[in-house]
Amino acid sequence: MDLTNERLNNLKENIEALCADELVDLKTDVDEQVLSKTMSKDALHKVIKKERKRPEACKVCESTHLVKNGKTKQGRQKYRCMDCGKSYSDTHNSIVKGSKKPYYVWEAFIQCMMNGFSLRKISSLIDITTQTAFSWRHKVMETLATYDQSYKLSEEIQIDETYFLLNMKGSRELPRPAKERGTKGRTRGISNEFACVLTAVDANDHILLEVIGQGNPRTGSIIGALDYRVEQNTRMITDSKAAYHEVSEHFSSKLHQIPSHSHTKGVYNLAVTNGLHSEMRSWFRKFKGVSTKHLARYLAWFRFEKLLRYRYEMKRHNRKCMNYAISNHLTFLTDAISKQPFPIDIELPYKQNQYFA
Ligand SMILES: [Zn+2]
Repeated sequence: MDLTNERLNNLKENIEALCADELVDLKTDVDEQVLSKTMSKDALHKVIKKERKRPEACKVCESTHLVKNGKTKQGRQKYRCMDCGKSYSDTHNSIVKGSKKPYYVWEAFIQCMMNGFSLRKISSLIDITTQTAFSWRHKVMETLATYDQSYKLSEEIQIDETYFLLNMKGSRELPRPAKERGTKGRTRGISNEFACVLTAVDANDHILLEVIGQGNPRTGSIIGALDYRVEQNTRMITDSKAAYHEVSEHFSSKLHQIPSHSHTKGVYNLAVTNGLHSEMRSWFRKFKGVSTKHLARYLAWFRFEKLLRYRYEMKRHNRKCMNYAISNHLTFLTDAISKQPFPIDIELPYKQNQYFA
């Protein structure tokens, strides 16, 4: 147990020993402390410093030889790189770098975000514009994408795909006027106007979600998404797609395919991935359409929430999200959100349509 946890646990034990009247007095004192600490200008810096376990490296020269170098007017610790002379504060290389908003606004934002509130509602509840809420949401999602990615899926892995209709919300580069859907241009199988998301889940509740192209997935894209993310010699349970023969061979794994008009094959089924897909559908509904451009980032958020539910009590979720997001070593500028390219060819469904028209 680390020092912070030990300190917190000791505190909790002491608090449990208090009588009701003492507890009420203590709460008043604690509330005052909370107010002053979460409003303080160095609160974000202090939490990040506590959360970051490995020493921060200089982003210019990657040296880890950073030394304390006085404090700012607001009391924020400054550091200087001994190798290149660049100076930093604790928020450097984090999504809150340069943010003028104090800790409590970020904290309130995370609460709203985890509650699934709309950007407009968030903006009306806390003092930020919808534009800021939009870019914060993307920054947070970007950090969540790295959560729990260092393991490989193993043993028994259910692999399946789900599809999201191409969505160009918020994009100016619309290729063509919207066409009538479900008429011309349909080819066999899943059409190119759907983004394909590969889902893989193992018995240890590890989850992989990856946008792997459009229409029916290619063998190479499936292998690409799973490479370095699954162990060799596993049992792979998939649908009846022929592509999975090559995929399972690539990972020297045993393949158990569920026939297309069945839910099981022997003891095997795709119940977990199917369940995940239907949860995903209802989870996405609240956004009233997500641009395909940003699909991967929303999937990362969905995945993060799902993993939190496996691992922590509900009341700890906001804190976990907040601490993970702000201490993550990541600089993600608002600029990058608008410049985000589509992960699939948005012209392709249209090209096909012209051909069939
Ligand atoms: Zn340096």
